[in-house]
Amino acid sequence: MQTPGKNTQSLTSTCCYCGVGCGVVVNKEKNGEITVAGNKDYPVNKGMLCSKGINLHYTVNDKSDRLLYPQMRYNKSMPLQKVSWDDALDRTVAVFKTFIEKYGPDSVAFYASGQCLTEEYYVVNKLMKGFIGSNNIDTNSRLCMSSAVAAYKMALGEDSVPLCYDDIELADCFYVTGANPAWCHPILWRRVEAHKAANPNIKIIVVDPRVTDTCSLADLHLQINPGTDITLNHAIGRLLIENGDIDIDFIRNHAEGFEQYSALVFKRTLAESAKICGVSERDMQLAAKYIGEAKGFITMWTMGLNQSTVGVNKNLSLINLNLITGHVGKPGSGPLSLTGQPNAMGGREVGGLANLLPAHRDLKNPLHREEVQKFWRGKNIKPEPGLTATEMFEALDDGRLKAIWIMCTNPLTSLPNVRLAERALKKARFVVVQEVSNKPETLAYADVILPAAAWAEKEGTMTNSERRISYLNKIIEPPGEALPDAEIICRFARKMGYPGFDFKNSEEIYAEHVRLTAKTSIDISGLDYDVLKGSSVQWPYKKKSKPAGTERLFADKKFYTPSQKAIIHAVPDAFFSERTDNDYPFVLTTGRIRDQWHTMSKTGKVNKLNQHLKESFIEINPYDAAGLKLKEGDVAVISSRRGEVRVKAKLTTQIKPGVVFLPMHWGKILGNDLHRANNVTNNAVDPISKEPDFKYCAVHIAKYKKP
Ligand code: SF4
Repeated sequence: MQTPGKNTQSLTSTCCYCGVGCGVVVNKEKNGEITVAGNKDYPVNKGMLCSKGINLHYTVNDKSDRLLYPQMRYNKSMPLQKVSWDDALDRTVAVFKTFIEKYGPDSVAFYASGQCLTEEYYVVNKLMKGFIGSNNIDTNSRLCMSSAVAAYKMALGEDSVPLCYDDIELADCFYVTGANPAWCHPILWRRVEAHKAANPNIKIIVVDPRVTDTCSLADLHLQINPGTDITLNHAIGRLLIENGDIDIDFIRNHAEGFEQYSALVFKRTLAESAKICGVSERDMQLAAKYIGEAKGFITMWTMGLNQSTVGVNKNLSLINLNLITGHVGKPGSGPLSLTGQPNAMGGREVGGLANLLPAHRDLKNPLHREEVQKFWRGKNIKPEPGLTATEMFEALDDGRLKAIWIMCTNPLTSLPNVRLAERALKKARFVVVQEVSNKPETLAYADVILPAAAWAEKEGTMTNSERRISYLNKIIEPPGEALPDAEIICRFARKMGYPGFDFKNSEEIYAEHVRLTAKTSIDISGLDYDVLKGSSVQWPYKKKSKPAGTERLFADKKFYTPSQKAIIHAVPDAFFSERTDNDYPFVLTTGRIRDQWHTMSKTGKVNKLNQHLKESFIEINPYDAAGLKLKEGDVAVISSRRGEVRVKAKLTTQIKPGVVFLPMHWGKILGNDLHRANNVTNNAVDPISKEPDFKYCAVHIAKYKKP
């Protein structure tokens, strides 16, 4: 980072990568460029930033890939041409109105992003559910957090992360499962590392089919077979019960479902569970011992549990461990789902998914729908959920959906079974792409391209994984004719003739969102931009809340369920992922690497970050590689029932025989899309959360031979 010059203006913001939500100070130099430093006063990171955050300014200063003006074409065979904002939006309005009139409101859809600011989420959700009259508004958060959202609701009554990051320093046992926070949530993990360094007796259990950097801090690594998380969690639950390490008072007075749970977990012997999971009975016993001895116990997880055909059940089986031990609603304890995106939580607050309503209201509840409809003075809101992320592209493919508006996301790298999504966009009658960069593959399919402002070029708010709401300053002007996403949506809504979109600025949008949360579980009626400009706060934040908000939920052991008791769900340990066979004998799992983020549209611009791992690869165990005559650096062909990937082989004992790993980040590079992991992944989803199964599909592997 450069040292700020004497003509520097400094403003605060929040890192726009992961859900840790680190505070940054952005220095604006006289030449218009910015530099970034960690905010020492910010409670999340106390000045620390990871490799991605510390290099954030490069992504903003480099304008070489920016979309600068709206573009449009009148038919698919024409080239895109520069047009005015009015022309681009007028045409979009005309096409949307035609489809809505001819085929109904469910013929159009918005596909947005966990990177949108809360205000952006709010207006697009209001536009779609309240005025177009369809619930077809979903975001890429469906791909990462929707299983956790559903599980929180089922277990605690609402989508509520109960604890705060400061609980890390109060815990003495961590159960980290389906996550590699050392690489993917680094600053949070540094807090765990520092806590362990100061208190060597605290215990860290890591559950992962791979040996990751997170494992280097672990007292115990349970290298389970992919997909067997529920069996493992149940076995540990059984051991906790057998050892008497459960909280009888909490179970009796504050929870329901223990009898069914207990009966279920005793159905499998420990030996059976150990065999299914591929770990030893001794290690399971050790895990139960560490948890049983803990005064403060935190479970921490992310995509390894969420991205599964049984993602909700995996989440529930984990939250059960907190509930039976009474480790929720007290200092140093609780379930902590780590969000991959910076504002996935803010999107959930405004109800920005196809099955949600604002402020945790229930789409199925007629009173809740009426409340929102009256507040917006819009159309009746439909009770049926709209199309979710993967369903939108399936509906474009089979013709049910005619038009899609893609906002701030890159589905042709990030969606599973991406060939289907590609085919769907080819068939789509009308595609709008609202984007910052000229790189995403979706642009090739766009009928209208709308240039959007990037991070630091607009103001707004975000919420991190611990319910902390922060204000992001606008620091510089967007280039060319690019506009903030909320303004684009409001301009479109006004041209559609809808009332309620004449906000003067983001602050007014936020104020409306705040009013809609009153008397709900996330009540932030004490909040406005002035408060947030002073400091970040954790919701709920009522008028008389403490200055920092609410650090911990459920301190009174009253949950949001009708009985006010938490629910222990006895979930089966069956899983329904695509199975291996003779044709496709390997299990593929996908994930992140340390210095890239999502589809690399930002991190891929930073030379320093590209040095870590320069190209995609497949991790394979040397035992498997020997059988395939595959050597380190050879090109491997990974094929599934859906497509093919060709990348170099990386031989490592850090992955189990029979399992291979592909990073998720690479898409089409110079016309070559064979690095793209999602050519082979499966679009099977969890039946409740509709989250796809990125962590388990059957593949065939062979050494590439030149034709
Ligand atoms: Fe940004 Fe996440 Fe790194 Fe913090 S940990 S600097 S929020 S990428």
